[in-house]
Amino acid sequence: MESVVVETLLANRRVAWVAADESLTVISIVDSTGLLGPTGGWLGEPLPHVLPELVGSEPDLEAILSGRVDPLHIEFIEREDQAGLTVYVRMVVVAGNSDAARVGSKLYCIFEDMTDLGISRQRLTQSRNDLLLAQRSLAGAVLDLQTSNAELHRLTDMKSVFVSVAAHELRTPLAVISSYADLLAQGVVGELNNRQLQSLGIIRDGAERLLQITANLLDMTRIESGRLELVLHVLDLGELVASIVEEQRPLFEQANLDLSLSIEPALPLALLDELRATQIVVNLLSNARKYTPGGGTVQVALGCSADLSELRLAVSDTGVGIAPEDQPEIGTWLFRAKSAKEISAKGVGLGLYITRSLVELHGGRFWFESTPGAGSVFHVTFLAADGS
Ligand code: ADP
Repeated sequence: MESVVVETLLANRRVAWVAADESLTVISIVDSTGLLGPTGGWLGEPLPHVLPELVGSEPDLEAILSGRVDPLHIEFIEREDQAGLTVYVRMVVVAGNSDAARVGSKLYCIFEDMTDLGISRQRLTQSRNDLLLAQRSLAGAVLDLQTSNAELHRLTDMKSVFVSVAAHELRTPLAVISSYADLLAQGVVGELNNRQLQSLGIIRDGAERLLQITANLLDMTRIESGRLELVLHVLDLGELVASIVEEQRPLFEQANLDLSLSIEPALPLALLDELRATQIVVNLLSNARKYTPGGGTVQVALGCSADLSELRLAVSDTGVGIAPEDQPEIGTWLFRAKSAKEISAKGVGLGLYITRSLVELHGGRFWFESTPGAGSVFHVTFLAADGS
């Protein structure tokens, strides 16, 4: 019976087997593949001497022998086989006997090679450890990122505060320069000759430009800190655009530009902050004027989407255009295209950043198309007041 069992096991797997008698003394060893390593001298030895895994388990072994407890299973025991290679074995300790007269006259320790499984398990443990390490270093990196982010926020806030204080401080003396230049120009403090008036004109333009820049800087800090709030009303955008175009017309005439306006009939009313919407339209118009050489044309067109949910304003010009490589940056903070610098047009690159932000605050969209040397079309949309 024993030999049948052993032969069957041996035929299919790398197994070994050690038997002990009731006094737990080794009485036979079957290990045809060398799984247990050197076994010379095991016969006659106490079982726990040759199988150190069983040291301290003597009461359990006796309980197994007497059939009081179930067989003992120990998995993944690391050993060296006969060839000196590390193997992992599973050991099952069961009671039995050869003549079936009594349960538990012998104790069998059956070994099975489970090296492949052991190695996979070891790799799994290794991978788990690696994963744990990676998770820890990721958590560290996230913490670093959060710290840098907080620092960045602090610096951005400091920059905003600095820019805002500086812009505020500049506005008062600039306003004084501008108003005194006006008084001088009006002859309040005495008549000026033509050359003096011309110089005064340059001073006034410069002061106005600086005032505009400080206003833009203040807007920028408000946008960045989320403090810019719109006061929305239901308004006729067509009327607003038409009045801005008429106001700006003299400037276009001075620049020898043809300015035209087309407004689709029966447009829905729009949801607008009048001051900010005016700022958007004026910015687009003054850019078209600035970046279109004399003799060109600027067209302003207002229409709406087919479902009447949004109003669409397009300002097209026949100006210098924007190179494709510069286009992705347009509308970002302080960016100016090569083409703008080439024609020495004055500017600091804040206008479109503010325009785009104001459009988005209105719930609208901003985009443009441009061909270098041929012109640009800037589009903005506004929500219709009764649009769903
Ligand atoms: P600024 O005009 O003060 O430089 P803006 O923010 O208004 O700043 O515009 C950013 C840049 O976008 C400009 O410097 C210019 O390069 C480009 N740009 C804006 N409008 C036009 C336009 N109509 N045609 C060509 N380039 C334009």
